[in-house]
Amino acid sequence: MSYTCGLLPVLDQHEDHHYEMSEYEGAKARWCPGCGDHSILTAVQRLLAAEQLVPEQTMMVSGIGCSSRLPHYMKTYGFHGLHGRALPVATGIKLHRPELTVFVTMGDGDCTSIGAGHWVHAMRYNVDMVAMMLDNGIYGLTKNQTSPTTPQGFKSNTQPYGSILPPLNPLEVALGITNASFVAQTAEWAPSHLYATLRAAYKHKGFSFVRILQRCPVYTPAIYQKAVQDPARIQLLVHDDGVVTPDLDKIYQSQLHHDPRDLAAARALAEQTETIKLGVFYRDPSKPRYEETRRVAPRTPAERVALLEKEFARYAV
Ligand code: SF4
Repeated sequence: MSYTCGLLPVLDQHEDHHYEMSEYEGAKARWCPGCGDHSILTAVQRLLAAEQLVPEQTMMVSGIGCSSRLPHYMKTYGFHGLHGRALPVATGIKLHRPELTVFVTMGDGDCTSIGAGHWVHAMRYNVDMVAMMLDNGIYGLTKNQTSPTTPQGFKSNTQPYGSILPPLNPLEVALGITNASFVAQTAEWAPSHLYATLRAAYKHKGFSFVRILQRCPVYTPAIYQKAVQDPARIQLLVHDDGVVTPDLDKIYQSQLHHDPRDLAAARALAEQTETIKLGVFYRDPSKPRYEETRRVAPRTPAERVALLEKEFARYAV
């Protein structure tokens, strides 16, 4: 069997090969001991192995930050980009090579501050990819600077008397974006929920935004501590079209049946922050995807050159 890359048929030599999880492991992770990013890396590698994704047809794209080192630790293709620019890079990759599976990893500062404009429009474009926002409530790589999701009153190097503003709620933002098609929240300290959520995001056709609550034991060790120690502070959103994790029933006994097709209910739930809600808030696979509306027929290299020459000629003086 073969597939087509541009106009060249490429022999697929992988169809009989079964990938072990170890075959997705790249360089040894250099995150701090106890960092939640380790758990997220494991969940991603587990997902790729379960889905038998071909490493050279899988892209990991990142911006800048602790979480953005993830592509280095995977044995797939990767693009470690600029701060806040992971999503336009990933969008370009997917539009040009729709056969690739694209994952994006961003931090809270990366996604919701410098990359916020890209975040809004990538969600609206709804190009098929999994976008993970690893939220530790701080800029960690640049050493303890307030990010948009830093809790109010938290003292950092940039706001030593405490963060002044209430934190931005990424779920409320995501659910307010026109044409958003998948919004979920999970936590790295609940590995089976994390895995099930990433799997649901991967299965969704469209832009899947997953906020992953992530512990940073160096700079923000306290922000999720109560939720980790007291499961009553967590409420699971359960639904057959969302995430179901029976192994967590005994731990997380507060569960809410939530239909992810109900956008109004999803927005109302996102506003309620007295308990941390984990699950799929919203999912609508019928939303238009940009790569479908803008798909162009494959062109030969000569045709591409001719088109470029024509464009350049328009601006000749
Ligand atoms: Fe993880 Fe925090 Fe260390 Fe960064 S600074 S690697 S987020 S523990």
